[in-house]
Amino acid sequence: MDHDVNGRLLDRPAIEPPESFVAQANVSDPDVRAAFEREWPDCWAQAGRLLDWERPYDETLAGGAAEPPFEWFAGGRLNASHNCVDRHVDERKNQVAVQWEGRLGETRTYTYLDLYREVNEFAAALRSLGVAAGDVVTLYMPMIPELPVAMLACARLGAVHNVVFAGFSAEALANRMGRAESRFLVTCDGYYRRGAATNQKNKADNARIGLDHEVEATVVVSRLGDETHLGDRQYGYVDLLAAHEGDRVDPVARRAADPLFLIYTSGTTGAPKAVTHTTGGYLAHVAWTARAVLDIKPEDTYWCSADIGWITGHSYVVYGPLALGTTTVLYEGTADHPERDRVWQIIERNAVDVFYTAPTAIRAFMKWGSEYPARNDLSSLRLLGTVGEPINPRVWEWYYTHIGGERCPVVDTWWQTETGAIMVSTLPGADAMKPGSAGMALPGIGARVVDGDGRPTPPGEPGYLVLDRPWPGMPTALATGEGWADSHPWRSADGWQYVAGDEATVDEDGYVTVLGRVDDVINVAGRRFSTMELESSIVEVAGVAEAAVIGGDDRSTGRAVYAYVSPERDCPGDDDLRARIEARVREAIGPMATPEAVVFTPELPKTRSGKIMRRLLEDIANDEPLGDTSALRNPEILGEIESVVREEP
Ligand code: ATP
Ligand code: MG
Repeated sequence: MDHDVNGRLLDRPAIEPPESFVAQANVSDPDVRAAFEREWPDCWAQAGRLLDWERPYDETLAGGAAEPPFEWFAGGRLNASHNCVDRHVDERKNQVAVQWEGRLGETRTYTYLDLYREVNEFAAALRSLGVAAGDVVTLYMPMIPELPVAMLACARLGAVHNVVFAGFSAEALANRMGRAESRFLVTCDGYYRRGAATNQKNKADNARIGLDHEVEATVVVSRLGDETHLGDRQYGYVDLLAAHEGDRVDPVARRAADPLFLIYTSGTTGAPKAVTHTTGGYLAHVAWTARAVLDIKPEDTYWCSADIGWITGHSYVVYGPLALGTTTVLYEGTADHPERDRVWQIIERNAVDVFYTAPTAIRAFMKWGSEYPARNDLSSLRLLGTVGEPINPRVWEWYYTHIGGERCPVVDTWWQTETGAIMVSTLPGADAMKPGSAGMALPGIGARVVDGDGRPTPPGEPGYLVLDRPWPGMPTALATGEGWADSHPWRSADGWQYVAGDEATVDEDGYVTVLGRVDDVINVAGRRFSTMELESSIVEVAGVAEAAVIGGDDRSTGRAVYAYVSPERDCPGDDDLRARIEARVREAIGPMATPEAVVFTPELPKTRSGKIMRRLLEDIANDEPLGDTSALRNPEILGEIESVVREEP
């Protein structure tokens, strides 16, 4: 590839973390990576030590590191519920574990003792309904405290939870329960969305009808507070708790490699894929990264705004913060209801120390304007994080300035559902930040950028982002080597390697910049353009809030850049803005990248986890039938975009 992406994206000076942050950081030793290398894989015992083991492990990594099977913390036994709840009760029973902020402005507070009691009672209830170790229990609930309680109750019994995002349809739920042969379901009567009550139980009932197997028990949490008709083998959550009041359930010790849960990917590049995570390796990796990257301390109030229906919610709303014994904020609502400063109000009211969100949210905050965060006192914040998509440098800088007051380091964390926990990021107490670049591979992580033959690319040259060493949070299929190659990108020409599916560059300092999905990179007359780079240049144009670029058909070059742009609130999508966008791309990237068409749209199509779905925009541009739309959050926008595109000459 013949253009230097890093040079352009990162020609701003690296930003050092403030000394005041470094002085208090959990990890600030600049040699931590070298120390991990010297002792790899035993370095990961540092993560193992963050957990309580019912039986200590014999080996940090059994089976060698060359090829599967890999077994992390082999011989060890532990229980995730004990690690996230019981062990904190002795030390700080009255500390808040879960601070819930409800959609209607209600709040609920669970101390570690409250959480301990409810998890035990619900585990006793599930056990009485027939749930045993290894059973798959499907959880279909919005962001209410009963969701983490149910997850931890399953973990306590050694049952495998299968959280299905609450906004998914009956059909999507049936599909996920069917594939997992899940015979138990915990759901709720309904919940509020954009001011209106939705009927969740109805969807759950319909899903059950669509299943080939019997559901042995359905538990219904009352969120709306209305009287709900409970049919055969259906039980009310509060009735079950009352029936098991004061019950205690001994945590079932699990092998480190035993499954803790099933989860699905976001579905950005195709149909969502199922992934299974382990108990020991996963929990150790999540706890270690929550401590080293998110800098979480037990006395902190920490808020990750992701929905628990996605891996980020599992790892960094529930397991990571609770394993470290901190206070985790659980927010049911949306960022703009009732007002566009809702998020900042919650941060002020709870004096949140660490805030972790996604670029899609930050782009929305930016679009709404800095007057909203300015209304609130955000001085409690110490660290900011982002995950889910590449963050454009302009958006990074807005976050750093307007939310972090240029005082809080920003960690741009690259990882996937498949990796279970953060893999590439700066360590905020040890590394300088480069806006737009995620940072270095974390200590002990083998992340590299390679060409099509598996050879490392020179600095600045795009290539495939691969993981060439096992990691503790790796999913079961990758650890065992069974059934992985069929459904996941995978190459093994030069030893064991997991191909992440993202294209990236690495600079002289080892900083990885994700350029976009391998499938999304645009090839115009033999030149490859990164979606991240193109979109970043468009987002730099005043008046642009969000942009997505794709490769579309073109009569002369075969392939051309199409840009879909969502303007800021007060900016019209007109010829002037179009001309400025074209000029900026020509200047920043080159004339060949000048968009063939700039399509204005109030919104971009996004997954329910908030990622731009470029493949659907590509289908529209190329006049092809739309691919899998099951993971789409705003299907109505597609018709709107289609009608605009069809009008183009
Ligand atoms: P699917 O695999 O179903 O197509 P998905 O890849 O979006 O969906 P996730 O596992 O939720 O599902 O997302 C992981 C992907 O998100 C990564 O492969 C990467 O493309 C993107 N990503 C996550 N964090 C970052 C980041 N900090 N910088 C750049 N990209 C990121
Ligand atoms: Mg993926």
